[in-house]
Amino acid sequence: MKRVLVTGGAGYIGSHVVKLLGERGYEVKVYDNLSTGHRESVLYGDLIVGDLSDTKLLRTTLTDFAPDVVMHFAAFIEVEESVRQPLKYYRNNACNTMNLLNVMQECGIGNFIFSSTAAVYGLPEFTPVSEDAPLVPINPYGQSKRCVEGALMDISQAGAVKYISLRYFNVAGADPDGKLGQKYENPTHLITRALKTAKGEFEKFQMFGTDYPTPDGTCIRDYIHVTDLVEAHILAMEYLPGSDRSGIFNLGYGHGYSVREVIDIAKKVTGTDFRVEETGRREGDPIELVADSSRIRKDLGWRPGYDDLEFIIKTAWDWERSL
Ligand code: UDP
Repeated sequence: MKRVLVTGGAGYIGSHVVKLLGERGYEVKVYDNLSTGHRESVLYGDLIVGDLSDTKLLRTTLTDFAPDVVMHFAAFIEVEESVRQPLKYYRNNACNTMNLLNVMQECGIGNFIFSSTAAVYGLPEFTPVSEDAPLVPINPYGQSKRCVEGALMDISQAGAVKYISLRYFNVAGADPDGKLGQKYENPTHLITRALKTAKGEFEKFQMFGTDYPTPDGTCIRDYIHVTDLVEAHILAMEYLPGSDRSGIFNLGYGHGYSVREVIDIAKKVTGTDFRVEETGRREGDPIELVADSSRIRKDLGWRPGYDDLEFIIKTAWDWERSL
């Protein structure tokens, strides 16, 4: 694989992927509508500013660049918003992805790396959750990603595309070189929200739900450093040509932290005893999501290097303070 088209390459995860691809000598082109991404986050390759619904621009981009593989990050990602505005999620995450796949097929591009999510599992019966667990998403965000996974299975069986679907658990942290990190207008994710509170941008941190059936009453998640996640994409991409099969892999470390534990570490890292308000549950939140990541370790040889929540939060804090 030499030429890689990265949709959503100006966003949080996409921009980290582009950096690593660029550093390793791949030829990269980014396709992003800049709805949540930032031009200055694209450190390598050209940026085409465009929407995935723009069939004509997609066709020209794919024909001109002729990528060996498409890595598809462009999507909306907020669970709560998806509950309020489901069609926004189905339109962008599902319909626009179908459009992309259709144009790829027209242009004869047959390798696809898909950003999926642990939200496809809904409320898993067993933990850690393996890739074979039933897919019963409990919010429109998870449903929209599941739609694409279903389509990919059918399309790959028809022989048009080979794909790897990576089901992310909770991605966090920032580029250890300090060049990239999260840049959202109104962040909703736990670690970013906590750090912005420590920085004084929010008056208090709201802890959503303290009456869950977990040891300390708060939800449990498996937080994975963005660089480990990005490395997995490169392994996945390089695995495709030599394999006769598509694949689905969880991406998490295999152990979880409660919201309270994350807040304690965030207070330690920032040296700030910011205000925490315990409030009611947030709609659409599963109690516990922890990955069984044995498949990706075995099949792709993935060896994470940053499995340390304090380090993850520290990289995010360094980034946050640089903004
Ligand atoms: N959370 C919280 N306060 C916040 C943001 C998140 O208590 O301001 C909780 C949320 O309810 C969930 C966990 O932190 O239990 C992780 O949420 P996040 O939005 O970071 O990721 P998700 O797992 O929803 O993708």
